[in-house]
Amino acid sequence: MIDKNCFDELSKQKAKSFNQEKNYIKKALNGQTINCRVCQKQLQMQFINDKTQVKLQCKSSCTDILLDIDKGSK
Ligand SMILES: [Zn+2]
Repeated sequence: MIDKNCFDELSKQKAKSFNQEKNYIKKALNGQTINCRVCQKQLQMQFINDKTQVKLQCKSSCTDILLDIDKGSK
């Protein structure tokens, strides 16, 4: 039997890290410098897929975030 509490906890953690990643992207889009939490190197921002996605990556690739850009802000 699958432990439902365990599953809930996992999805909570996932949501938490997703929000954190979203925050990273937001800061990067605002021109702020963000450092990798693991290696403390500066994260590089890159637009990919016809600028529909943004990628944040550090040189050692311990941080590698890919996020869709919200285009619904008309
Ligand atoms: Zn890193």
